[in-house]
Amino acid sequence: MTTATHTRTDRPGSRLAARLDGRLLSPGDAGYDPARTVWNAMVDRRPRMIVQAASTADVQAAVRFARDRGLEIGVRCGGHNVAGFAVPDDGLMIDLSPMGGVRVDPVRRLARVQGGALLGALDRATQPYGLATTAGNVSHTGVGGLTLGGGMGWLARRYGLACDNVESYTVVTADGEVVTASRTAHPELFWGLRGGGGNFGVVTEFEFRLHRTGTRTLVAEFDFRAEDAVPVLEGWRDLSAAAPREATFTADVGDGPAGGGPLATVGFVWVGDPERGRRLLPALRALGRPVATRITTPSYLELQRRDDSTGGHAYRRYSAGHYLRGFPTAAVEAFLLRGAADLRGGGSGLPGVGLQAHGGAIADVPDGDAAFGHRGTMFEFGAGSRWTDPAEDGARMTAARAAGSAIAPYANGVYVNSLTAHDGQGGVRRAYPAAKLARLAALKGVWDPHNVFRLNQNIRPAAA
Ligand code: FAD
Repeated sequence: MTTATHTRTDRPGSRLAARLDGRLLSPGDAGYDPARTVWNAMVDRRPRMIVQAASTADVQAAVRFARDRGLEIGVRCGGHNVAGFAVPDDGLMIDLSPMGGVRVDPVRRLARVQGGALLGALDRATQPYGLATTAGNVSHTGVGGLTLGGGMGWLARRYGLACDNVESYTVVTADGEVVTASRTAHPELFWGLRGGGGNFGVVTEFEFRLHRTGTRTLVAEFDFRAEDAVPVLEGWRDLSAAAPREATFTADVGDGPAGGGPLATVGFVWVGDPERGRRLLPALRALGRPVATRITTPSYLELQRRDDSTGGHAYRRYSAGHYLRGFPTAAVEAFLLRGAADLRGGGSGLPGVGLQAHGGAIADVPDGDAAFGHRGTMFEFGAGSRWTDPAEDGARMTAARAAGSAIAPYANGVYVNSLTAHDGQGGVRRAYPAAKLARLAALKGVWDPHNVFRLNQNIRPAAA
């Protein structure tokens, strides 16, 4: 045996490395730390090895290798999951980042999107044809995690959630096989992949249906002093219920300029001809006397990047979320308070809170059609905090949880993709009504009976 061969075979996973189209990274290798670093800076875990998969065959090899050795698997696409589920401590991380390609067929209006693609890549590939499909609001989020949990975006009220626009999934299963799931091939798996998260395998390709959306949008925002905003939010809620599907109503409350007290911002995002969107403006202007107004007409690609820096990397993050079927006055008051005792005292480390309207095409999809849990939602609520000093961890998380608890009495469930590590199985039960969870557990028992894919919002397999 030559020294070189000896060195190669001694290194953990060297046989695996030799088979890969991509790379195998171990602690100490160049690229190891960037690959294990995810969006939430509170996540600091060290995988035993990282497979940077460049092909479906790489994913198959990685799954089989990890399964045979009992290594916990983490799957990384955009790395945005707030709980950091992509990164297993001492396990094997499958980093899909090298598989970020998107191919568009503008004639058939289909996009083939690799499992590691970011939303920005999807939008950039489709927009030159005036096409798009539902994708989230920050361009560096992964198509993978977002779509598998449901996928909410500015087009969802018109065309359904991201998962409602998937025609087929190519999946590497727990035993390392490749299957395609669609309405006609493995339809039950297709059902589960539409909202069931990363529980059933590693998706190496999504086939998306595209829509003629054009490239233009309108964004309207009206700022009010939070302490005056109860009637404003009530009026905004009622306008949202009657709004055309091109409009997604938004509201948030955050710290205003120093000394000014908290601000409540209400408005909407319109995808389509801005002139038609402007017709909604008089009704919003009639809600009250705003302290500031912003009406902008970004291109769709600009809109999709608009929140990239507020949603940026390298901050410590914590959040609490709910789905709301209604937004009664008591919930409006709780929303404005952000979990604090009164409306004064902005800048005190309280989380920002926000609402984004559901309804429209999301609610058109029959509930039994997909694993996604809460079609009847009126608004998604989120309370989010970002900071840099670890000494603030406890206070920030407590404050975000308090804002979430204040809204909890009005909630009907939660978005599976907003669950934190603290939510555990209770969170999974809130994400899926009991009958859906039982169906998902049975499906998990078929495709992953030994729970190989468990570092996620885990659906425990039902016994066969
Ligand atoms: P990752 O951390 O890479 O993946 C999360 C989990 O998804 C993995 O642990 C794995 O279980 C699974 N997974 C990912 N890819 C695959 C794959 N190819 N095959 C199998 N399993 C996979 N959600 C919305 O719906 N709409 C939004 O507008 C939105 N905006 C967001 C903005 C920001 C700044 C952030 C941080 C999150 C946002 N989210 C939004 C939530 C988002 O959907 C989740 O954080 C989601 O988990 C992100 O997916 P990812 O691929 O980036 O994350």
